Amino acid sequence: MTRIAIVGVAGRMGRTLVNAVEQQAGASLAGGIVEPGSSLAGADIGELAGVGKRGVVAVDSLAAIVDDFDVLIDFTAPQVTLANLAFCAEHGKRIVIGTTGMSDDELAELDSYRDKVAMVFAPNMSVGVNLTLKLLETAAKALGDEGYDIEVIEAHHRHKVDAPSGTAIKMGEVVAESIGRTLKEHGVYERVGQCGPRTDKEIGFATVRAGDIVGEHTVMFATEGERIEITHKASSRMTFAKGAVRAARWVADKAHGRYDMQDVLGLE
Ligand code: NAD
Repeated sequence: MTRIAIVGVAGRMGRTLVNAVEQQAGASLAGGIVEPGSSLAGADIGELAGVGKRGVVAVDSLAAIVDDFDVLIDFTAPQVTLANLAFCAEHGKRIVIGTTGMSDDELAELDSYRDKVAMVFAPNMSVGVNLTLKLLETAAKALGDEGYDIEVIEAHHRHKVDAPSGTAIKMGEVVAESIGRTLKEHGVYERVGQCGPRTDKEIGFATVRAGDIVGEHTVMFATEGERIEITHKASSRMTFAKGAVRAARWVADKAHGRYDMQDVLGLE
């Protein structure tokens, strides 16, 4: 049985994760962490998640439950996640990280823990998106050098704080790597005013923020006469949460290292 604690347990993903842990055999709900000083500390995390009392109360520090869990699941914010990563490395815990929006420096700091802790880090934990990444690799290899323009379009709910989404960036990276390009050189994140015609090798990103959209991504390969669109639509956060719990169970017996969902799902 993998004992799982959830950071940000009162958040959108946190509450969904409580449900997801309960639904999976081999996983148990070992704790929930809310922001330091939060009035929700002491609340039953089952009640926070709307599934009824579960006898596990939210705490506002990881140290308070250090002996209770094996794997931490963290869907919060970059600086919070990095502090939790350090905690897990120090205390021999494993961690599943879904937080997006990290800067290059923050990503480098995260990566510096690869020899100190077993972590799964993925901007999108859904099985469907990770299969989509494989499809994109195949499409990019076949079309990328054949005069097809590549664009990534994503849409999310109005509360999302980072853009483009971590998933959109990951999709762009997979496509770019498959055809010998890089997003640093070829990524275009903004077009406004007299920006001129599109160049052949750029990979463009477009972002929509509206209402309650859970997450939609399309990668378009367009040329004269046809276009191919590979689309993934998430209709419930449960798809990310189930993937995260699967990752937590998978990483529970792994050696130190930085893994992603392709590793968890055996898609490499
Ligand atoms: P949210 O704002 O609803 O939840 C974040 C929670 O973290 C909040 O409840 C907040 O109180 C809590 N928090 C902040 N600081 C904390 C601290 N120091 N200790 C404990 N808790 C703290 O956001 P969300 O929609 O749940 O998304 C969270 C993150 O997960 C974002 O980066 C989002 O992009 C990412 N996300 C990733 C995936 C994926 O599959 N990888 C899917 C959905 C969302």
